[in-house]
Amino acid sequence: MSNATAITPTRAQDFPEWYQQVVRAADMAENSEVRGCMVIKPWGYGLWESIQRQLDAKFKATGHVNAYFPLLIPLSYLEKEAQHAEGFATECAVVTHHRLEAQKQPDGTTKMIPTGELAEPFVIRPTSETIIGAAFARWVESYRDLPLLINQWCNVMRWEMRPRLFLRTAEFLWQEGHTAHETEEEAIVETRTMHKVYEEFLRDHLAIPVIPGEKTERERFPGAVQTFTVEAMVQDRKAIQAGTSHYLGQNFSKAANIQFLGRDNTRQLAYTTSWGVSTRMIGTLIMAHGDDDGVIIPPRVAPTQIVILPVTPKPDTRQEVIDACEALAQTLRTQTFAGEPLRVHVDKRDLQGGAKNWEWIKKGVPMRLEMGPRDITSRSVAVCRRDQGPKAKEFVPKEDFIQSVTERLQEIQDALLARATALRDANMKKLETLEEFKAFFAEGSEGGFALMHWAGSSEEEETLSKDMKVTIRCIPHGDQFAEEGKCFLTGKPSTRRVVFARSY
Ligand code: AMP
Repeated sequence: MSNATAITPTRAQDFPEWYQQVVRAADMAENSEVRGCMVIKPWGYGLWESIQRQLDAKFKATGHVNAYFPLLIPLSYLEKEAQHAEGFATECAVVTHHRLEAQKQPDGTTKMIPTGELAEPFVIRPTSETIIGAAFARWVESYRDLPLLINQWCNVMRWEMRPRLFLRTAEFLWQEGHTAHETEEEAIVETRTMHKVYEEFLRDHLAIPVIPGEKTERERFPGAVQTFTVEAMVQDRKAIQAGTSHYLGQNFSKAANIQFLGRDNTRQLAYTTSWGVSTRMIGTLIMAHGDDDGVIIPPRVAPTQIVILPVTPKPDTRQEVIDACEALAQTLRTQTFAGEPLRVHVDKRDLQGGAKNWEWIKKGVPMRLEMGPRDITSRSVAVCRRDQGPKAKEFVPKEDFIQSVTERLQEIQDALLARATALRDANMKKLETLEEFKAFFAEGSEGGFALMHWAGSSEEEETLSKDMKVTIRCIPHGDQFAEEGKCFLTGKPSTRRVVFARSY
C-alpha cells in the first residue's frame, strides 16, 4: 500500500465522491433498487443502534417515554394545518389503493394492477405531528394530563429529489419527540432542553462540535413558531443540519383540537413541541471524521471499539494465538467505557493479515490490536489507533494495556473532537461587506461559515440564497456572536451575527 490511500478519490480531489466510496468501502450502506431508499448494512446499522440506545437513555432521563403511531396519515389530517401541509406537499408519497388484481398477459407473465381505490388517500408520514396530535386530543382532558412527553423511533418518507446515502434519503430512520404542555413557558423550556440534548450528544458522543441556534423564518419547520437547529461543519467546510427542535405554539393543537380544562376551569389549547434527529447523523459523522483511508468512528458509538487481529504465521501456533486473543477479549469485555461494556471483537477469519487489517481501517474501528506468537512470549500487544494513520503502531505490555484501555479510548474520542473543532474554528470567519462575502463563497475559494451581520427580509434572504447558493444556517446562540453592527446587505442595524454557509 506504500503511500497510496485506501480510498480513491481522496477528500481533496473530490469530496462528494470520496464520501460515496467511503460508505461503500466501510460496508455501511448501499443504494437500493427503490429510488432514494438505501439498504443499511450491519456495520452502518450497528452504528445507528449505538446512537439510538444512547440517545434513548437521554430522552428517558429527561422524562420522555416511547410510543408508536401509524405509518399512514389520513390526507384530511394534513389539510388541517395549512402551512404544514404546504411545506410538505411536494415530498409526499400517497397511498391510493388497497388491493392488487392479477392480470394474465398474452406472453404468459402476470401483471399486478392496483384496484380498490380508497375513498380517502393516506400519506406515508413525512413527520407525525398531525396523527400524534389527533391521539393527544383524545388523551388530554385536564391540566392534570399534561405534560405529555412522547417519543417515537420510526421511519418516515420524504420524496427527496436529490438523495444521498444517509444525508438525504427518501426513506430515513429517525426519532421524533412530540410533547404537549399547559403553558407557553413550559413548552419553550422543553424545546430548548431537547435542543441542548442534541448539542451535547453530538459533541460528547459523536465528537462533532455544533453551532446551536435558531432558524430564520424562511428556514423554519412548516407550521412552527420557532425552529432551533444544531449545525455541523464537515471537512469540505459545508454545513449539515444535524438536528432540529421546534416550538409549535398552539398551531398544531388548534389543528388537532388538543384542548384541556385548565386550573381556572376554562377550556384551553395546549402548547406543543416536536424534535428530531435521523440517520443523517451517520453521514455527518463520516464527513466530519473520515480520512483518505475510510471512516473513523468515535469510540463511544463504534459498534466494535476494539478489534483483535490474531497474527498466525504458522499453523502449529495458530490455536494458541487465537486462544490468547480470545482471553484478552474476555478480560477487556469486563470493563466499561462511558457506562457501557467494552465492545471487543476477535477477527478469526482465515484471511491474509494485510487485507484484514485494511478492512477494519476502512470501517473505522477506533482501535486495532495485533497479537502473534512473539507478543505472547513477550506478554505485549501492538496497539493501532485509527485516528493516527495506518502506520502508527505502539507495542504495549499487555497488563498495562488492559489497565489503560478506557483512557486510551477516551484519548481517541477527545482527539477527534479536538480535530473537528480546530477545523470548524479555522474556517469560521467574521466578514463585513458584500464583496468579502462574495469572495468567501466564490467558485474555487475554500468557503466555510461566514459570520455576518444581517437584518434583511425573507425575500432578500431568498434572493441571496438563490444567487450565491448559500443559506443562513442559523442565528447562533452564545455571547461570541452578539455585537452591534450593520447588515452587510441592507446597512440596517444588527445586534447579532448569523451563520451563512453552503450546505448538504
Ligand atoms: P424536520 O422534521 O424537518 O425538522 O427534520 C428533523 C431532522 O431530520 C432534520 O434536522 C434532519 O437532520 C433530518 N432529516 C430531514 N430530512 C432528511 C432526509 N431526507 N434524510 C435524512 N435525514 C433528514
